[in-house]
Amino acid sequence: MMNKTKPVEPTGKLSPQPWMAFPETKAVIAALTRDGAEARFVGGCVRDALSHRPVKDIDIATHDPPEKTIALLEAAGIRAIPTGIEHGTVTAVIGARHFEITTLRIDVETDGRRARVSFTDDWAADAARRDFTINALSAAPNGDVYDPFNGIADLAQGQIRFVGRAEDRIREDALRLLRFFRFYATYGRPPGDPEAMAACRKLAALVDTLSGERVRAEMFRILLAPDPATIVSLMRGLGVLKHVLPEANEGRDDKGADGIGRLRAVAWLTTRAVKVDSFAPDALRRLAALADTDRTGALRIADRLRLSNAERDHLVLLADPPVAIKPEMDTRARRRAFHGLGAEMFRSLTIVAWADEVSHASFEPHGRNQAWLDLLKAADDWQPVEFPLKGRDAIAIGIPSGERVGALLAEVETWWIEGDFRAGREECLARLRELAAT
Ligand code: ATP
Ligand code: MG
Repeated sequence: MMNKTKPVEPTGKLSPQPWMAFPETKAVIAALTRDGAEARFVGGCVRDALSHRPVKDIDIATHDPPEKTIALLEAAGIRAIPTGIEHGTVTAVIGARHFEITTLRIDVETDGRRARVSFTDDWAADAARRDFTINALSAAPNGDVYDPFNGIADLAQGQIRFVGRAEDRIREDALRLLRFFRFYATYGRPPGDPEAMAACRKLAALVDTLSGERVRAEMFRILLAPDPATIVSLMRGLGVLKHVLPEANEGRDDKGADGIGRLRAVAWLTTRAVKVDSFAPDALRRLAALADTDRTGALRIADRLRLSNAERDHLVLLADPPVAIKPEMDTRARRRAFHGLGAEMFRSLTIVAWADEVSHASFEPHGRNQAWLDLLKAADDWQPVEFPLKGRDAIAIGIPSGERVGALLAEVETWWIEGDFRAGREECLARLRELAAT
Protein backbone atom coordinates (compact mmCIF):
# COMPACT_ATOMS: atom_id res chain seq x y z
CA MET A 1 0.00 0.00 0.00
CA MET A 2 1.30 3.36 -0.95
CA ASN A 3 2.04 5.97 1.72
CA LYS A 4 -0.47 8.70 2.00
CA THR A 5 0.79 11.78 0.23
CA LYS A 6 0.87 15.11 2.01
CA PRO A 7 -2.44 16.98 1.56
CA VAL A 8 -2.14 19.83 -0.88
CA GLU A 9 -3.43 23.28 -0.04
CA PRO A 10 -5.44 25.26 -2.57
CA THR A 11 -3.29 27.67 -4.53
CA GLY A 12 -5.86 29.80 -6.25
CA LYS A 13 -9.48 30.39 -7.00
CA LEU A 14 -11.52 29.99 -10.16
CA SER A 15 -13.43 33.05 -11.27
CA PRO A 16 -17.20 32.42 -11.22
CA GLN A 17 -17.92 29.79 -13.87
CA PRO A 18 -21.28 29.46 -15.59
CA TRP A 19 -20.96 25.67 -15.69
CA MET A 20 -20.41 25.56 -11.94
CA ALA A 21 -23.54 27.62 -11.42
CA PHE A 22 -25.81 25.43 -13.58
CA PRO A 23 -28.67 24.17 -11.39
CA GLU A 24 -27.81 20.66 -12.64
CA THR A 25 -24.20 20.99 -11.48
CA LYS A 26 -25.30 22.27 -8.11
CA ALA A 27 -27.78 19.40 -7.74
CA VAL A 28 -25.11 16.79 -8.49
CA ILE A 29 -22.60 18.33 -6.08
CA ALA A 30 -25.28 18.63 -3.37
CA ALA A 31 -26.20 14.96 -3.80
CA LEU A 32 -22.59 13.76 -3.72
CA THR A 33 -21.63 15.76 -0.64
CA ARG A 34 -24.82 15.19 1.35
CA ASP A 35 -23.22 12.61 3.63
CA GLY A 36 -20.06 14.60 4.08
CA ALA A 37 -17.90 13.25 1.23
CA GLU A 38 -15.69 15.73 -0.59
CA ALA A 39 -16.31 16.19 -4.30
CA ARG A 40 -14.22 18.27 -6.69
CA PHE A 41 -14.19 19.19 -10.34
CA VAL A 42 -11.22 17.54 -12.01
CA GLY A 43 -9.25 17.39 -15.23
CA GLY A 44 -10.33 19.13 -18.42
CA CYS A 45 -13.01 21.43 -17.00
CA VAL A 46 -10.63 23.02 -14.50
CA ARG A 47 -7.84 23.25 -17.06
CA ASP A 48 -10.12 24.85 -19.64
CA ALA A 49 -11.72 27.24 -17.14
CA LEU A 50 -8.26 28.43 -16.08
CA SER A 51 -7.20 28.97 -19.68
CA HIS A 52 -10.43 30.74 -20.67
CA ARG A 53 -11.54 28.04 -23.04
CA PRO A 54 -15.09 26.79 -23.32
CA VAL A 55 -15.74 23.92 -20.93
CA LYS A 56 -17.28 20.89 -22.63
CA ASP A 57 -17.48 17.99 -20.20
CA ILE A 58 -17.78 18.28 -16.47
CA ASP A 59 -15.82 15.60 -14.65
CA ILE A 60 -16.11 15.24 -10.90
CA ALA A 61 -14.11 13.16 -8.45
CA THR A 62 -15.32 12.00 -5.06
CA HIS A 63 -14.18 9.99 -2.06
CA ASP A 64 -17.12 7.64 -2.11
CA PRO A 65 -16.99 4.29 -3.89
CA PRO A 66 -19.20 3.98 -7.00
CA GLU A 67 -22.02 2.06 -5.26
CA LYS A 68 -22.36 4.83 -2.70
CA THR A 69 -22.23 7.45 -5.46
CA ILE A 70 -25.10 5.72 -7.26
CA ALA A 71 -27.13 5.53 -4.04
CA LEU A 72 -26.55 9.22 -3.27
CA LEU A 73 -27.52 10.30 -6.79
CA GLU A 74 -30.62 8.13 -6.84
CA ALA A 75 -31.68 9.35 -3.42
CA ALA A 76 -31.63 12.85 -4.89
CA GLY A 77 -33.73 11.71 -7.85
CA ILE A 78 -30.80 11.92 -10.30
CA ARG A 79 -30.34 9.22 -12.92
CA ALA A 80 -27.08 7.32 -12.37
CA ILE A 81 -25.55 5.11 -15.05
CA PRO A 82 -22.76 2.73 -14.03
CA THR A 83 -20.57 3.48 -17.08
CA GLY A 84 -17.36 1.95 -15.77
CA ILE A 85 -17.92 0.52 -12.33
CA GLU A 86 -14.63 -1.39 -12.14
CA HIS A 87 -12.77 1.87 -12.85
CA GLY A 88 -15.03 3.72 -10.46
CA THR A 89 -16.96 5.75 -13.01
CA VAL A 90 -20.63 6.63 -12.78
CA THR A 91 -22.43 9.04 -15.10
CA ALA A 92 -25.08 11.31 -13.63
CA VAL A 93 -27.67 12.50 -16.11
CA ILE A 94 -29.98 15.46 -15.64
CA GLY A 95 -31.85 16.41 -18.79
CA ALA A 96 -29.26 16.95 -21.50
CA ARG A 97 -26.37 17.33 -19.08
CA HIS A 98 -23.99 14.52 -18.22
CA PHE A 99 -21.51 14.45 -15.39
CA GLU A 100 -18.81 11.84 -15.19
CA ILE A 101 -18.15 11.02 -11.57
CA THR A 102 -15.07 9.02 -10.69
CA THR A 103 -14.01 7.68 -7.33
CA LEU A 104 -10.54 8.79 -6.30
CA ARG A 105 -8.23 6.03 -7.32
CA ILE A 106 -4.71 4.83 -7.73
CA ASP A 107 -3.49 2.43 -10.39
CA VAL A 108 -2.25 -0.70 -8.66
CA GLU A 109 -1.27 -2.60 -11.72
CA THR A 110 -0.74 -1.55 -15.31
CA ASP A 111 0.03 -3.66 -18.34
CA GLY A 112 0.71 -0.80 -20.73
CA ARG A 113 -2.88 -0.61 -21.83
CA ARG A 114 -5.33 -1.11 -18.98
CA ALA A 115 -4.93 -0.40 -15.32
CA ARG A 116 -6.31 -2.29 -12.36
CA VAL A 117 -7.33 0.34 -9.87
CA SER A 118 -8.00 0.60 -6.20
CA PHE A 119 -10.01 3.34 -4.59
CA THR A 120 -8.51 5.84 -2.19
CA ASP A 121 -9.47 8.94 -0.25
CA ASP A 122 -6.22 10.62 -1.15
CA TRP A 123 -6.55 13.55 -3.56
CA ALA A 124 -2.82 13.86 -4.11
CA ALA A 125 -2.54 10.19 -5.06
CA ASP A 126 -5.41 10.58 -7.52
CA ALA A 127 -3.69 13.60 -9.06
CA ALA A 128 -0.42 11.67 -9.30
CA ARG A 129 -1.92 8.96 -11.52
CA ARG A 130 -3.14 11.53 -14.05
CA ASP A 131 -1.13 11.96 -17.21
CA PHE A 132 -0.05 15.61 -17.48
CA THR A 133 0.43 18.38 -14.97
CA ILE A 134 -2.25 20.46 -16.71
CA ASN A 135 -4.67 17.55 -16.33
CA ALA A 136 -3.97 17.02 -12.63
CA LEU A 137 -5.78 20.17 -11.51
CA SER A 138 -8.89 20.01 -9.38
CA ALA A 139 -11.31 22.59 -8.00
CA ALA A 140 -13.62 22.47 -5.00
CA PRO A 141 -17.26 23.55 -5.48
CA ASN A 142 -16.34 26.91 -3.85
CA GLY A 143 -13.74 27.52 -6.57
CA ASP A 144 -10.59 26.66 -4.60
CA VAL A 145 -8.03 25.32 -7.08
CA TYR A 146 -5.60 22.53 -6.23
CA ASP A 147 -2.52 22.31 -8.38
CA PRO A 148 -0.14 19.72 -6.99
CA PHE A 149 2.25 19.66 -9.97
CA ASN A 150 2.36 23.28 -11.08
CA GLY A 151 -0.04 22.67 -13.92
CA ILE A 152 -1.17 26.31 -13.94
CA ALA A 153 2.33 27.54 -14.69
CA ASP A 154 2.72 24.86 -17.38
CA LEU A 155 -0.60 25.87 -18.90
CA ALA A 156 0.52 29.49 -19.05
CA GLN A 157 3.79 28.50 -20.68
CA GLY A 158 2.35 25.93 -23.07
CA GLN A 159 4.32 23.11 -21.47
CA ILE A 160 2.84 19.64 -21.68
CA ARG A 161 4.72 17.80 -18.94
CA PHE A 162 4.07 14.33 -17.67
CA VAL A 163 3.30 13.86 -13.99
CA GLY A 164 6.36 11.91 -12.87
CA ARG A 165 8.91 10.40 -15.25
CA ALA A 166 7.68 10.52 -18.83
CA GLU A 167 9.14 7.13 -19.68
CA ASP A 168 7.53 5.38 -16.73
CA ARG A 169 4.18 6.94 -17.42
CA ILE A 170 4.23 5.89 -21.08
CA ARG A 171 5.27 2.35 -20.17
CA GLU A 172 2.31 2.20 -17.77
CA ASP A 173 -0.09 3.25 -20.51
CA ALA A 174 1.14 3.69 -24.06
CA LEU A 175 -1.91 5.75 -24.99
CA ARG A 176 -0.30 8.61 -23.08
CA LEU A 177 2.28 8.84 -25.84
CA LEU A 178 -0.45 9.85 -28.30
CA ARG A 179 -2.24 11.93 -25.68
CA PHE A 180 0.94 13.96 -25.38
CA PHE A 181 0.57 15.06 -29.01
CA ARG A 182 -3.16 15.61 -28.60
CA PHE A 183 -2.67 18.04 -25.72
CA TYR A 184 0.41 19.58 -27.28
CA ALA A 185 -1.68 20.33 -30.37
CA THR A 186 -4.14 22.37 -28.35
CA TYR A 187 -2.24 23.69 -25.33
CA GLY A 188 1.41 23.40 -26.28
CA ARG A 189 3.96 25.97 -27.30
CA PRO A 190 7.17 24.97 -29.05
CA PRO A 191 9.63 23.68 -28.21
CA GLY A 192 7.93 20.79 -26.46
CA ASP A 193 9.10 19.38 -23.17
CA PRO A 194 12.46 17.68 -23.91
CA GLU A 195 11.90 14.82 -21.46
CA ALA A 196 8.46 14.05 -22.91
CA MET A 197 9.72 14.18 -26.47
CA ALA A 198 12.72 11.98 -25.75
CA ALA A 199 10.44 9.41 -24.13
CA CYS A 200 8.07 9.51 -27.12
CA ARG A 201 10.98 8.95 -29.47
CA LYS A 202 12.33 6.07 -27.44
CA LEU A 203 9.01 4.32 -26.88
CA ALA A 204 7.29 5.07 -30.20
CA ALA A 205 6.93 1.38 -31.03
CA LEU A 206 4.58 0.92 -28.06
CA VAL A 207 1.90 2.52 -30.23
CA ASP A 208 1.73 -0.83 -32.03
CA THR A 209 0.34 -2.42 -28.87
CA LEU A 210 -2.70 -0.12 -28.74
CA SER A 211 -6.09 -1.03 -30.12
CA GLY A 212 -7.13 0.57 -33.40
CA GLU A 213 -10.07 2.29 -31.70
CA ARG A 214 -7.87 4.07 -29.20
CA VAL A 215 -5.30 5.13 -31.80
CA ARG A 216 -8.07 6.37 -34.03
CA ALA A 217 -9.66 8.42 -31.24
CA GLU A 218 -6.41 10.21 -30.43
CA MET A 219 -5.32 10.61 -34.04
CA PHE A 220 -8.65 12.13 -35.07
CA ARG A 221 -8.36 14.67 -32.29
CA ILE A 222 -4.83 15.53 -33.39
CA LEU A 223 -6.03 15.91 -36.97
CA LEU A 224 -8.82 18.25 -35.88
CA ALA A 225 -6.43 20.61 -34.09
CA PRO A 226 -6.05 24.10 -35.58
CA ASP A 227 -2.62 23.35 -37.04
CA PRO A 228 -2.43 19.58 -37.41
CA ALA A 229 0.48 19.55 -39.88
CA THR A 230 2.91 21.02 -37.37
CA ILE A 231 2.02 18.37 -34.80
CA VAL A 232 2.10 15.53 -37.30
CA SER A 233 5.45 16.79 -38.49
CA LEU A 234 6.74 16.63 -34.92
CA MET A 235 5.36 13.10 -34.66
CA ARG A 236 7.20 12.17 -37.80
CA GLY A 237 10.42 13.69 -36.55
CA LEU A 238 10.19 11.65 -33.36
CA GLY A 239 9.49 8.42 -35.25
CA VAL A 240 5.94 8.14 -33.95
CA LEU A 241 4.00 8.78 -37.14
CA LYS A 242 5.17 5.61 -38.84
CA HIS A 243 3.54 3.60 -36.07
CA VAL A 244 0.26 5.45 -36.40
CA LEU A 245 0.09 5.93 -40.14
CA PRO A 246 2.90 4.24 -42.05
CA GLU A 247 1.13 5.33 -45.25
CA ALA A 248 2.06 8.94 -44.47
CA ASN A 249 5.66 8.30 -43.81
CA GLU A 250 7.02 7.54 -47.21
CA GLY A 251 8.42 11.00 -47.56
CA ARG A 252 8.37 13.23 -50.55
CA ASP A 253 6.74 11.91 -53.68
CA ASP A 254 8.23 12.20 -57.13
CA LYS A 255 6.82 15.70 -57.50
CA GLY A 256 8.49 16.96 -54.37
CA ALA A 257 5.53 17.17 -52.00
CA ASP A 258 4.43 15.03 -49.13
CA GLY A 259 1.34 14.17 -47.15
CA ILE A 260 2.18 16.61 -44.41
CA GLY A 261 2.40 19.44 -46.94
CA ARG A 262 -0.98 18.46 -48.30
CA LEU A 263 -2.45 18.24 -44.81
CA ARG A 264 -1.12 21.70 -44.08
CA ALA A 265 -2.71 22.99 -47.26
CA VAL A 266 -6.07 21.33 -46.54
CA ALA A 267 -6.16 22.83 -43.05
CA TRP A 268 -5.13 26.20 -44.39
CA LEU A 269 -7.58 26.23 -47.29
CA THR A 270 -10.53 25.26 -45.16
CA THR A 271 -9.86 27.48 -42.19
CA ARG A 272 -8.14 30.54 -43.57
CA ALA A 273 -8.19 30.78 -47.32
CA VAL A 274 -11.70 29.61 -48.14
CA LYS A 275 -13.43 29.88 -44.79
CA VAL A 276 -16.72 28.62 -46.02
CA ASP A 277 -18.92 27.50 -43.15
CA SER A 278 -19.62 24.20 -44.79
CA PHE A 279 -15.95 23.32 -44.49
CA ALA A 280 -15.86 22.40 -40.86
CA PRO A 281 -12.60 20.61 -40.08
CA ASP A 282 -13.05 17.03 -41.17
CA ALA A 283 -10.86 14.32 -39.70
CA LEU A 284 -11.31 11.90 -42.61
CA ARG A 285 -10.47 14.53 -45.21
CA ARG A 286 -7.38 15.49 -43.25
CA LEU A 287 -6.44 11.84 -42.86
CA ALA A 288 -6.79 11.30 -46.60
CA ALA A 289 -4.65 14.36 -47.31
CA LEU A 290 -1.97 13.08 -44.97
CA ALA A 291 -2.05 9.47 -46.04
CA ASP A 292 -0.78 9.81 -49.58
CA THR A 293 -2.08 6.42 -50.56
CA ASP A 294 -4.24 4.47 -52.97
CA ARG A 295 -7.34 2.35 -52.58
CA THR A 296 -5.49 -0.60 -51.03
CA GLY A 297 -3.74 1.68 -48.58
CA ALA A 298 -7.00 3.38 -47.64
CA LEU A 299 -8.61 0.00 -46.98
CA ARG A 300 -5.66 -0.98 -44.82
CA ILE A 301 -5.95 2.24 -42.81
CA ALA A 302 -9.70 1.75 -42.38
CA ASP A 303 -9.13 -1.75 -41.12
CA ARG A 304 -6.33 -0.82 -38.76
CA LEU A 305 -8.11 2.20 -37.29
CA ARG A 306 -11.45 0.35 -37.12
CA LEU A 307 -13.31 2.88 -39.22
CA SER A 308 -17.01 2.28 -39.79
CA ASN A 309 -18.04 1.03 -43.24
CA ALA A 310 -19.30 4.47 -44.19
CA GLU A 311 -16.05 6.08 -43.08
CA ARG A 312 -14.07 3.45 -44.95
CA ASP A 313 -15.94 4.12 -48.20
CA HIS A 314 -15.51 7.83 -47.68
CA LEU A 315 -11.77 7.47 -47.13
CA VAL A 316 -11.38 5.25 -50.19
CA LEU A 317 -13.10 7.84 -52.38
CA LEU A 318 -10.94 10.62 -50.97
CA ALA A 319 -7.73 8.64 -51.40
CA ASP A 320 -8.56 7.29 -54.82
CA PRO A 321 -11.08 9.54 -56.57
CA PRO A 322 -12.82 8.05 -59.62
CA VAL A 323 -12.25 11.30 -61.54
CA ALA A 324 -9.43 13.78 -61.45
CA ILE A 325 -10.93 16.98 -60.12
CA LYS A 326 -9.52 20.25 -61.40
CA PRO A 327 -10.75 23.63 -62.58
CA GLU A 328 -10.12 22.59 -66.20
CA MET A 329 -13.10 20.22 -66.11
CA ASP A 330 -15.66 21.46 -68.59
CA THR A 331 -19.21 22.01 -67.44
CA ARG A 332 -20.36 18.63 -68.66
CA ALA A 333 -17.59 16.77 -66.87
CA ARG A 334 -18.39 18.76 -63.76
CA ARG A 335 -22.07 17.89 -63.89
CA ARG A 336 -21.22 14.26 -64.42
CA ALA A 337 -18.97 14.33 -61.38
CA PHE A 338 -21.54 16.19 -59.25
CA HIS A 339 -24.09 13.58 -60.16
CA GLY A 340 -21.79 10.62 -59.61
CA LEU A 341 -20.18 11.76 -56.38
CA GLY A 342 -22.77 14.04 -54.85
CA ALA A 343 -21.98 17.72 -54.31
CA GLU A 344 -20.64 17.17 -50.78
CA MET A 345 -18.08 14.55 -51.76
CA PHE A 346 -17.18 16.58 -54.83
CA ARG A 347 -16.41 19.58 -52.65
CA SER A 348 -14.31 17.51 -50.30
CA LEU A 349 -12.34 16.03 -53.19
CA THR A 350 -11.90 19.51 -54.63
CA ILE A 351 -10.28 20.68 -51.42
CA VAL A 352 -7.89 17.73 -51.38
CA ALA A 353 -7.02 18.19 -55.06
CA TRP A 354 -6.53 21.92 -54.57
CA ALA A 355 -4.36 21.27 -51.51
CA ASP A 356 -2.34 18.81 -53.54
CA GLU A 357 -1.72 21.46 -56.18
CA VAL A 358 -0.88 24.14 -53.62
CA SER A 359 1.57 21.86 -51.86
CA HIS A 360 3.35 20.98 -55.10
CA ALA A 361 3.47 24.41 -56.69
CA SER A 362 6.00 26.98 -55.62
CA PHE A 363 3.61 29.74 -56.63
CA GLU A 364 0.00 29.94 -57.72
CA PRO A 365 -0.58 31.60 -61.09
CA HIS A 366 -2.82 34.64 -61.03
CA GLY A 367 -6.49 33.69 -61.05
CA ARG A 368 -5.85 30.12 -60.04
CA ASN A 369 -7.44 30.41 -56.61
CA GLN A 370 -10.51 31.96 -58.16
CA ALA A 371 -10.74 29.04 -60.59
CA TRP A 372 -10.80 26.57 -57.71
CA LEU A 373 -13.33 28.69 -55.81
CA ASP A 374 -15.53 28.77 -58.91
CA LEU A 375 -15.43 24.99 -59.01
CA LEU A 376 -16.61 24.86 -55.39
CA LYS A 377 -19.31 27.40 -56.17
CA ALA A 378 -20.54 25.31 -59.08
CA ALA A 379 -20.88 22.34 -56.73
CA ASP A 380 -22.85 24.52 -54.30
CA ASP A 381 -25.23 25.53 -57.07
CA TRP A 382 -25.73 22.05 -58.46
CA GLN A 383 -29.36 20.91 -58.44
CA PRO A 384 -29.41 17.12 -58.13
CA VAL A 385 -31.18 15.32 -60.95
CA GLU A 386 -32.84 11.95 -60.73
CA PHE A 387 -32.73 9.29 -63.41
CA PRO A 388 -36.33 9.17 -64.69
CA LEU A 389 -36.76 5.37 -64.95
CA LYS A 390 -37.29 2.67 -62.36
CA GLY A 391 -37.28 -1.13 -62.57
CA ARG A 392 -41.05 -1.19 -62.89
CA ASP A 393 -40.85 0.83 -66.12
CA ALA A 394 -38.83 -1.97 -67.69
CA ILE A 395 -41.32 -4.58 -66.53
CA ALA A 396 -44.23 -2.44 -67.80
CA ILE A 397 -42.83 -2.55 -71.32
CA GLY A 398 -42.55 -6.33 -71.17
CA ILE A 399 -38.95 -7.00 -70.19
CA PRO A 400 -39.06 -10.08 -67.96
CA SER A 401 -37.91 -9.27 -64.43
CA GLY A 402 -34.41 -10.48 -63.67
CA GLU A 403 -30.86 -9.53 -64.33
CA ARG A 404 -31.60 -8.06 -67.73
CA VAL A 405 -33.72 -5.29 -66.19
CA GLY A 406 -30.82 -3.97 -64.15
CA ALA A 407 -28.37 -4.21 -67.02
CA LEU A 408 -30.66 -2.43 -69.47
CA LEU A 409 -31.54 0.33 -67.04
CA ALA A 410 -27.86 0.87 -66.27
CA GLU A 411 -27.20 1.19 -69.96
CA VAL A 412 -29.97 3.76 -70.40
CA GLU A 413 -28.70 5.66 -67.38
CA THR A 414 -25.18 5.83 -68.83
CA TRP A 415 -26.64 7.14 -72.06
CA TRP A 416 -28.70 9.68 -70.10
CA ILE A 417 -25.62 10.87 -68.19
CA GLU A 418 -23.55 11.07 -71.36
CA GLY A 419 -26.31 13.16 -72.88
CA ASP A 420 -25.81 15.60 -70.03
CA PHE A 421 -29.08 14.60 -68.29
CA ARG A 422 -31.15 16.20 -71.04
CA ALA A 423 -33.33 13.22 -71.95
CA GLY A 424 -36.70 13.22 -70.19
CA ARG A 425 -38.76 10.24 -69.14
CA GLU A 426 -40.28 9.62 -72.59
CA GLU A 427 -36.93 9.69 -74.36
CA CYS A 428 -35.44 7.36 -71.78
CA LEU A 429 -38.36 4.96 -72.25
CA ALA A 430 -37.87 5.07 -76.01
CA ARG A 431 -34.18 4.33 -75.56
CA LEU A 432 -35.03 1.45 -73.25
CA ARG A 433 -37.43 -0.06 -75.82
CA GLU A 434 -34.78 0.29 -78.50
CA LEU A 435 -32.17 -1.48 -76.40
CA ALA A 436 -34.61 -4.18 -75.29
CA ALA A 437 -35.41 -4.96 -78.91
CA THR A 438 -31.80 -5.68 -79.84
P1 ATP B 1 -10.90 16.87 -23.22
O1 ATP B 1 -11.49 18.21 -22.96
O2 ATP B 1 -10.09 16.82 -24.45
O3 ATP B 1 -11.87 15.73 -23.07
P2 ATP B 1 -9.86 15.89 -20.76
O4 ATP B 1 -8.77 16.38 -19.87
O5 ATP B 1 -11.23 15.86 -20.19
O6 ATP B 1 -9.79 16.71 -22.09
P3 ATP B 1 -10.09 13.06 -21.09
O7 ATP B 1 -9.44 12.16 -22.08
O8 ATP B 1 -11.56 13.20 -21.13
O9 ATP B 1 -9.39 14.46 -21.25
O10 ATP B 1 -9.63 12.56 -19.64
C1 ATP B 1 -10.12 13.16 -18.45
C2 ATP B 1 -9.00 13.22 -17.41
O11 ATP B 1 -8.65 11.89 -17.02
C3 ATP B 1 -7.70 13.84 -17.90
O12 ATP B 1 -7.71 15.24 -17.69
C4 ATP B 1 -6.66 13.14 -17.08
O13 ATP B 1 -6.55 13.74 -15.81
C5 ATP B 1 -7.24 11.76 -16.87
N1 ATP B 1 -6.78 10.77 -17.86
C6 ATP B 1 -7.46 10.36 -18.97
N2 ATP B 1 -6.79 9.41 -19.64
C7 ATP B 1 -5.66 9.19 -18.95
C8 ATP B 1 -4.55 8.31 -19.12
N3 ATP B 1 -4.46 7.50 -20.17
N4 ATP B 1 -3.58 8.34 -18.19
C9 ATP B 1 -3.66 9.18 -17.12
N5 ATP B 1 -4.67 10.02 -16.91
C10 ATP B 1 -5.66 10.05 -17.81
MG1 MG C 1 -12.92 14.89 -21.20
